[in-house]
Amino acid sequence: MMAQYLALKAQADGCLLFYRMGDFFELFFEDAKIAASVLDIALTSRGEHGGAPIPMCGVPVHSAEGYLARLIRAGCRVAIAEQTETPEEARKRAGSKALVARDIVRFVTAGTLTEDALLEPRRANVLAAVCAVRGMAGIAACDISTGRMELEECAPETLPAALARLGATELVMAEESGFDLPEAASRPTRAFDSERGAARLMALHGVATLDGFGTFSRAMLAAAAGLIDYLEHVGRGNLPLLLPPVVREARAFMAMDEATRASLEILSASGGGRKGSLIEAIDRCVTSAGARLLAEDLAAPLTDLAAIRARLELVSWLHDDPLLRGDLRAVLRAAPDVGRALGRVVAGRGSPRDLGQLRDGLAEAQRLQALLAARADRPALADALVPALGGHGALIDLFSRALVPAPPTERASGGFIAAGYDAALDALRDAAGNSRRAIAALEARYREETGTPSLKIRHNGVLGYFIEVPARHADRLMQPDSGFTHRQTMAGAVRFNALALHEEASRIAEAGGHALAAEEAHFEDLTARAIAAREAIATTAAALARIDVAAGQAERAAEGGWCLPHLSDDTALSIRGGRHPVVEAALAARGERFVANDCQLSPRDRLWLIGGPNMGGKSTFLRQNALIVILAQAGGFVPAEAAEIGIVDRLFSRVGAADNLARGRSTFMVEMVETAAILAQAGERSFVILDEVGRGTSTYDGLALAWAVAEAVHEVNRSRCLFATHYHELARLAETCDALSLHHVRAREWKGDLVLLHELTEGPADKSYGLAVARLAGVPAPVVKRAKSVLDRLEKGRAATGGLAAGLDDLPLFAAAIEAAEEKVDALREKLSAIDIDSLSPRAALDLLYDLKREL
Ligand code: ADP
Repeated sequence: MMAQYLALKAQADGCLLFYRMGDFFELFFEDAKIAASVLDIALTSRGEHGGAPIPMCGVPVHSAEGYLARLIRAGCRVAIAEQTETPEEARKRAGSKALVARDIVRFVTAGTLTEDALLEPRRANVLAAVCAVRGMAGIAACDISTGRMELEECAPETLPAALARLGATELVMAEESGFDLPEAASRPTRAFDSERGAARLMALHGVATLDGFGTFSRAMLAAAAGLIDYLEHVGRGNLPLLLPPVVREARAFMAMDEATRASLEILSASGGGRKGSLIEAIDRCVTSAGARLLAEDLAAPLTDLAAIRARLELVSWLHDDPLLRGDLRAVLRAAPDVGRALGRVVAGRGSPRDLGQLRDGLAEAQRLQALLAARADRPALADALVPALGGHGALIDLFSRALVPAPPTERASGGFIAAGYDAALDALRDAAGNSRRAIAALEARYREETGTPSLKIRHNGVLGYFIEVPARHADRLMQPDSGFTHRQTMAGAVRFNALALHEEASRIAEAGGHALAAEEAHFEDLTARAIAAREAIATTAAALARIDVAAGQAERAAEGGWCLPHLSDDTALSIRGGRHPVVEAALAARGERFVANDCQLSPRDRLWLIGGPNMGGKSTFLRQNALIVILAQAGGFVPAEAAEIGIVDRLFSRVGAADNLARGRSTFMVEMVETAAILAQAGERSFVILDEVGRGTSTYDGLALAWAVAEAVHEVNRSRCLFATHYHELARLAETCDALSLHHVRAREWKGDLVLLHELTEGPADKSYGLAVARLAGVPAPVVKRAKSVLDRLEKGRAATGGLAAGLDDLPLFAAAIEAAEEKVDALREKLSAIDIDSLSPRAALDLLYDLKREL
């Protein structure tokens, strides 16, 4: 058995192997240790291997799904080895000591799930494959639960940001691609072949050229090949639903790297869950598909003005018409998850219920279509969605006639094909019904014949139909000539059979068997019809989701008094009365009010330095402006009184190291790596928020770095930037940087208490209020008092020496410093190029070297 186990394990390709033994899936060796600790189940041992006991643990087959879900969530991949013959078959094949044959029938991995129970309804489940072709990275991503497939090409250095946008739950990578992606599983590089990728896609979609879908680079096609190869491997040869691939142009989306996404808590809060995230605060979708699309929108805000305006126009239309919005949302609420039902049907895991969901979802789509089509004033995007919502009349009609109103998830016991759809099936059911009635009549007859009113005809899985009488009445039926045959004696009852009963029961069984076969055939047929229409169904599902997102955004905007943002191609960022949707909701829950604040960045005033006490609201202000930009470019209303936003091409958010202690790397190192990325990538169309950068090191280092970073963003990157800092000394930057201005969050000390007003005003912060915040936080009075006397001393010292920034008075300007350095290099370069090396004597060469060195 171990030999068989090890052979299967070798094919399991690094997955945990669930090895079927009777009613259990068993795990052995390292697998057992991992599973036992993840699942918190007992680790035992069985037999020996190489002289050591073999660790083992197991889960019951009937509850395996729950255990699988936990393993997948913990990042494991599982191969399922089933018994492919019964013990009897094994004995017949190879004698009494035969081992039952087993084979891996399925791989269960995070990115290839279709089961409803294992998927989160409101989150897409993305699998991505990555490879390198001629110095470029190719990415192929799909969500097989809905069939969406995207291809993308990017420079290797932007790969992490592209993957962060996709938020894949599973990642595979060509073995030799050389990317540093520790979470990716390696696949053979030969599977990532662009020509094969193109051929597979063409075959999959029955086309002779891919031109109709877009223009695909070699890297994209190679990644597609790797993705399809992996899906085939996981599905043991079966491919799931894959819709025609869509090209993702990185330029079409606002770039945000992983650190930015994490610090803004867009799709999940820092704790990991949805609670406290942006999406939780704005999601008013009534369908799961809508919620998934909203997440996609927020993860990839647009940069194309026309595309953003088209979305906004639809939201605005629905915002201004609450009646229409209510009608649409009522219809949507009744619509099942068409996309995922289709995914299961195409993957061969569909149930009668899934077919019913397709029918109901498509019917609701038709209703939406009618509502929209009746409106002459519909905006362009709604107009484009109208045709996508319909066209399924024949399918809806067929499924309505064929299926019962609420088909079951289980198809083995039938009962899902509606009466009247198939005359032969109806006849079989009638026959069974007649026999059932005949059996009821028999019961009455037997009671009378035997004089036993307590006689019953019953049914169970083992005996089928039988007659049962209490033990004390059994004698009469036991008589040889009674016409009854004894079958079983129980504690208080005896069970019999009789010829007439047997005949009726056989008729029921036979009719039932035929009926099941007929239903099964209809199921296959209906499934094939759905599969044939898969692209059109998926288009409808996407249209439903888009309308849900727009109506949900409109609903949220109406609820919160949000405004329609005005987008443009310039580089202004002007937000009046902006609010942070998550903080505002948290405050509202405590009965507190959020203080709205303005942000007015323009080419002449593009860097705001923001000071003020801790807890004063600096981080909140920074983030709310970034979130407003994201919401606007995702095509939604924003929590503000008015917003004018020049399209942002890249968004960066950085938080000083102290807030990020949970991370593994040296936190200051992380802070600097991230800051370096901003200085390298941010440009005039970018928006940067920097929160206490430089805090993660000593005061002098920190101030010096914060100073230089602010200067560089101002002079070199020239991005729009909000920079929160507690270094008062940075205020002096305003003297030299003309597009930089000073702001602070207001606070007041009142009767010895600190009052934080959370209100942003112009000018430098007057003082830090650190001790007052400490008192507010409950630091004991003697400690605060002691701190006060230390502070007095320090401040006296500062007055005497000129303070932390005393040496900065004659600091040359950032630009001047760079210029001076460049001038020097130019002079050296000129001198060097003037030298005619061949005509120099050794002595002259040496002199020249001394000369050059002196000039440095
Ligand atoms: P800082 O970055 O200045 O330390 P935060 O932005 O973290 O301050 O804000 C601290 C707390 O103050 C928040 O958790 C919130 O409860 C409250 N707060 C922040 N901004 C506002 C605001 N505009 N209106 C009301 N309360 C606010």
